[in-house]
This record gives sequence, structure tokens and C-alpha cells, in this order.
Amino acid sequence: MSVAQAPISQLKDEISTRIDVLRPELERIGRDIHANPEIAYEEHRAVAWLAELLKKQGFSVELGVANTETAFVASRRNGTGPTIAFLSEYDALRGLGHGCGHNLIATASAGAGIALADALGRLPGRVLVIGTPAEEGGGGKIRLIRAGIFQEVDAAMMFHPDTRTQVLHWALAVTHMHFAFIGRAAHASGDPEKGINALDAFVLAYNGISLLRQQLKEGARLHGFLKEGGTAPNIIPERTSGEFLVRARDEAYMQELVQKVKNIFQAAALATGCEVRLSFDEEPYADLRNNGVLAKLFEENLRRLGVDPVEGVPWAGAGSTDMGNVSHVVPALHPTIGIAPAEVPGHSQAFLEASGSLRGYQAMVDAAKALAMTGADLLADPALVEQAKVEFRRG
Ligand SMILES: [Zn+2]
Ligand SMILES: [Zn+2]
Repeated sequence: MSVAQAPISQLKDEISTRIDVLRPELERIGRDIHANPEIAYEEHRAVAWLAELLKKQGFSVELGVANTETAFVASRRNGTGPTIAFLSEYDALRGLGHGCGHNLIATASAGAGIALADALGRLPGRVLVIGTPAEEGGGGKIRLIRAGIFQEVDAAMMFHPDTRTQVLHWALAVTHMHFAFIGRAAHASGDPEKGINALDAFVLAYNGISLLRQQLKEGARLHGFLKEGGTAPNIIPERTSGEFLVRARDEAYMQELVQKVKNIFQAAALATGCEVRLSFDEEPYADLRNNGVLAKLFEENLRRLGVDPVEGVPWAGAGSTDMGNVSHVVPALHPTIGIAPAEVPGHSQAFLEASGSLRGYQAMVDAAKALAMTGADLLADPALVEQAKVEFRRG
């Protein structure tokens, strides 16, 4: 044990120093991404900045993988050993910019990849930085899974900024629904009996969902919004449309709820005489599976940096992520690091500011270091990779 321990400890110190040296460049890219928010599948500038950095650091970068312009795989290898992937997210929220802090995820994973790849001379294996677009709707990682990008990956890792530092993380399965009610326009005062009110259909559906909420299993969530509600007060609304998300702790229950939500929309259409059009994302986001082996290594590395995580409370404050789908394909790690006070909500202006703050960039650096060190543990001792896989297969 002691023979192996001395060099890995030294290697981790070198990783830490390497990331300190890289920090100004990582931070500059993080700030550029933060200041230039790009939404799902439009993250061209973010990808260009990250790809340029990774190329400069000796990675071979394949752009436009999985038939997706803003997805990429950057790789460096030396000899034969495990393949460690760091996942880089960089999409912004519609209408809010980087209120989820993906600018920090982008640079933490790139930094981790560079620092670990620099250690490949002593730790044979392969390091990937995978550019995964459209986490906030669209599911870029699902496309990458389908394209076989994760087939040779032994462990997939990333961090997410949060209000808490927590190694284990829970995320709900979610499916995204688009709806439209089609009625008939008519003069709202002169000819109301000739109209078919598409807003009434929405109101019925909305109330139906509100009632269903009372009967849900713990943790399930139904929420959405109306995009088109009519055009003028003196016209019976001919068309309403919007989006809803259906979330649950596992995919089976989520599908049950999807059926109930469909029934509600169809019932509202029947009651009002409207036509209803429903469409769902082809593949939903899966719940997130924690891997205890990876989590334990990451926690030790985080503590080594003087960052102490809090005990994870299962499902507390759970959102959803397409990293969930990755966690059903390979052993995965998705810890959080605190960048804002507990009272700050995610997806808010305050969280957007935290994502561009000094504390945010410190979290990015800590994440990059702990992720790279966890990768070093795995490359140094492939038996740990096996343990992670045994746990993964057990489910
Ligand atoms: Zn988000
Ligand atoms: Zn996010």
C-alpha cells in the first residue's frame, strides 16, 4: 500500500498545482461563456472556446459528434488503461442566461481533463472531455449515448454548482410535453355561440393537473406554462399552447403519470369541443443513479482540498438531468459544490450572479481538482474501476 500511496499523493499535488496554473485561462473561458449565454444546441461559441483550449493542451478534438454541431469528444491517451470521461455542459437557460452555472461545469471538466491527461505518462489510460450540449431541455447526453460515445467509457464524471456541497445527488426522471388546443375564433360579444374556446380547454386541463397533484406519490412533480393564450379580449381564443414537465423518482411511475396527464388534456378537449395536440420528447431523462465507489473517492479528494461536504438528504431539492441517462449506462459521478447561500433558488437571477462570482470560480477550481484526482485514483488502481462496475451492475 505505502509504495503506491506515496506517488499518487505526489501526483495529486501536481494535479492541484497544474489546475492553479490553468486557473486564469479556465476562468476567462468561464466568464466568456457566462457573458454570452447560448441555449440548447446553439452553444457554438462555448464549444469553440473549449475546443481551442483542449487542442492547445494536446487533445485531439472531434467536433460535431452524434450529428450534433455543438457536441464534441476531446481525447488523449497513453498505453492501455481505463477510460475516464469528464462531461462538460455549457448551455444556458431560455430567458435567464447562466442561472444554472453551466459555465462552471464547462471549465471544471475541461480543467480536470487537462490535468489528468498531463499525468498519463505515469498512469496509462485514456482521458476524454465530452462536450454535452442542451442539458436544460433537449438531452444532448441522450444523443451521445445513442451514438455510442459512452461504449468505451469506464467512468463518467462532472460536478454541478449548487447551494450545498454534497457528494451524493438525486435527480428525478422527467419527460417534456408540448401541447396545443385548437378551437374556433369568433366575436366574443357578437357571436360567442359560434366560438370554440381554446383557453377554456387549457383552464380545464390546468385545473385537472392541479387536482391530480394532490394524489401523487412522494417526490413527483407536474409543472408547466402557457405560451399562447389568445390574441385579443374580443376574440374567443382559437389556439392555446404551452409546455409541461412530468417528473417522478423512477421512469415507470413517470410513464404512469404521463398517461394520466394525457387523459386530462384529452378530457379537456372533449369537454370544450377543441382539438388537442400532444407531443412528448422521444426519450425522457432518467433518474440519477449514484455510484458509491466513485462518490467515496471524490469525497476523500474534496476533503483533501479542505472542502467538507454535507450529508446528502435523498431527493431534497431534486431537479432532473440527462446525466441520469448516463448513470444508467456507465458508473457516474454528479456531486454538487456550494456557490451561493442556502436561500438562493436555482434557476434565478441570484444564482446567475453566483455563477459569475469569485466563490463560483473557486468552486470550479475545487471541482476540477477533485474530479481529476478521482480520475487519478481510478487510473492508478484499475481494481477500483472494477469495483465501481460491480456496484453499477448490481443496480
Ligand atoms: Zn438547470
Ligand atoms: Zn444545470
